[in-house]
Parts: sequence; structure tokens; C-alpha cells
Amino acid sequence: MTARATRSQTEARAGVLGWPISHSLSPALHGYWLERLGLPGRYEARAVEPGRFDGAARSLIQDEGWRGFNVTIPHKEAAFRYCPDHDPDARRLGAVNTVVVTEDGTVQGRNTDLHGFRANLESDPEWRHVGRARAVLLGAGGASRAVVAALQDWGFGEITVVNRTVGKAETLLAELGAVNGTAVTWTEAEAALVGADLLINGTSLGMIGQQPLDLSLRSLPRAALVTDLVYAPLETALLAQARQRGNAAVDGLGMLLHQAAPGFQAWFGTPTLPRVDEALRNHVLAVRERLSG
Ligand code: NAP
Repeated sequence: MTARATRSQTEARAGVLGWPISHSLSPALHGYWLERLGLPGRYEARAVEPGRFDGAARSLIQDEGWRGFNVTIPHKEAAFRYCPDHDPDARRLGAVNTVVVTEDGTVQGRNTDLHGFRANLESDPEWRHVGRARAVLLGAGGASRAVVAALQDWGFGEITVVNRTVGKAETLLAELGAVNGTAVTWTEAEAALVGADLLINGTSLGMIGQQPLDLSLRSLPRAALVTDLVYAPLETALLAQARQRGNAAVDGLGMLLHQAAPGFQAWFGTPTLPRVDEALRNHVLAVRERLSG
């Protein structure tokens, strides 16, 4: 018998690092999968102050034996710098939201937002009816990078990015090599909707506690699909307006659930991605209700 347990013999530990972190839904969703699959792992939220990421990450991996963690605001750039190795999506997007300690001890930074955004739309029955000619994205922040990458992968002919700070949209398109992309200001947003197949809100507008998203959809074709990265509230004013006029609409909670799945598989060693289904959605929504109540 050896003194040290092998990796497969120890209870796997993982979690999420952010500041603030008390309202994170990640422990609820990973906890649900662990219980459902009968796995002996633990997933915890840890509050890590801005500027303290490196020390916290080192201690969790080396002293507490964590197999990795999710990274949320404000540590995504620090996590990218901390990781000596990156997966292709993290390299492409220049951001890390999932850290995985591999079997050989390498600390790898991964990005699963692209997978989460893609899987959320591709699992919706309306997706197969959506054209690929034009997409309009509102926003050019961190999350919008994953959206532009997905639009490129889906082969959209034209990508219009609407942003308050138009220079940020130009930089985002240039960094991702989106030669078919155009950056415009909000005054041009309504005109940009003409002929669009897909409209995405990647700004924080419309989120609880933020300013409303004030955009009329009257020039958007009825066949277009509308989706929102904001998931609090679940039914944003943008999605409500879309449904009211007959457009298909997909909320942002599915992206959150799907982006969590690859990290879970890596840390807890499941042969396939854990399932994202209605029962998981309902569980996470019930937990959110409790946290905000
Ligand atoms: P971020 O990097 O801070 O970017 C925020 C974006 O919102 C920028 O484009 C910013 O424009 C715009 N914005 C903010 N306030 C504005 C205002 N008053 N007027 C006009 N534009 C404004 O944030 P992020 O990480 O990209 O996240 C964006 C949203 O997506 C958040 O609500 C977040 O919760 C959500 N999200 C959801 C998921 C999911 O899994 N569903 C994943 C990631 C993010 P400027 O560039 O001009 O500042």
C-alpha cells in the first residue's frame, strides 16, 4: 500500500472563485450533478478579493488539492495570466473561465463560454430554422467575444456589433479576425436589424439593477431569433418584446448551464458531459429564488 492515495481514490474538489460570490449559482448546479450521478465530489464557492487571485489559486491547488475551479468577475484576466497552458478556445478568446489541473499536474486555462453559448442555441428546436446571412450583437464586453467566435463558427455572412464604446467593438472584431464584421453605435442599432437572422444581447442592459435595454424591434424580420445573455430576470424586456411580435426567443440561463458542463466533466471524471435538462433548470431557478429572497 502506498502512503499517498492516487488521484482516482481521492474525493475530487473544485469550486468557483470570484468577488462577490455569495449569489453564484454554480455550487447549486454542480451540486445537483454530483448528487444526481452519485459522485463523491465537492464544489464550493470561495470569495477571493481583487488582486489576490494568484495566491488563492496556488493554495487551493497545492495545499487543498483542488482539481480546478471556475473563475468569475473580476478574475478572468488574472486567471489567463496565471495559467501556463491554455486550451484553443481560451487562446482564441484571450480569457479563462475554467481552470483544470490535468492528470500530469499541468494547470490549464480553458474557456467554456463559447461552448455554452453555442450549445444553448443549438439545443433549441427553433435554431434549425435560423438563417446565416446576418447577425446583430449588442455589446462588446468579455462575454461578447465568445458570441463573435460562435457567429464565425456558424458561418454568418455579416456580423454587426453595436456598442456604446464603438472602439471596443472594432478592437474585438479585429482581434478575432472577423473580416465580415462592422462596428456601429446605438444610433444605428435599429437600422442594423433590417434583414437580420439573429439578434443577441451581450450587454448588461436589462439585467436586474442595471439600466433597461431600450431598443425597438420593429425593423427585425419575424423569422429572426432573439437571445439574451442576461438571465436575471429570465424573461428580459427584450425577449418579451420579441415573443410578443412573434419572434422565437431563447433565454440566457441555458448558456450558464452549458458552460459549466465541460469543467464538471474534467474535474469529476465523467465519461461524457453531464446533462443540461429541464430538471436542472428548475433546480437552479429555485435556488436563485431562495438566494434573492
Ligand atoms: P462586460 O465585459 O462588463 O461588458 C458589458 C457590456 O455592456 C459592454 O458592451 C458595455 O458597453 C455594455 N454596457 C454596460 N452598461 C451600459 C450602458 N449603460 N449603456 C450601454 N452599454 C452598456 O460584461 P460581460 O462579462 O461581457 O457580461 C455582459 C452580460 O452578459 C452580463 O449581464 C452578464 O451577466 C451576462 N453573461 C451571461 C452569461 C451566461 O452564461 N448567460 C455569461 C457571461 C456573461 P461599453 O463597452 O461601452 O462599456
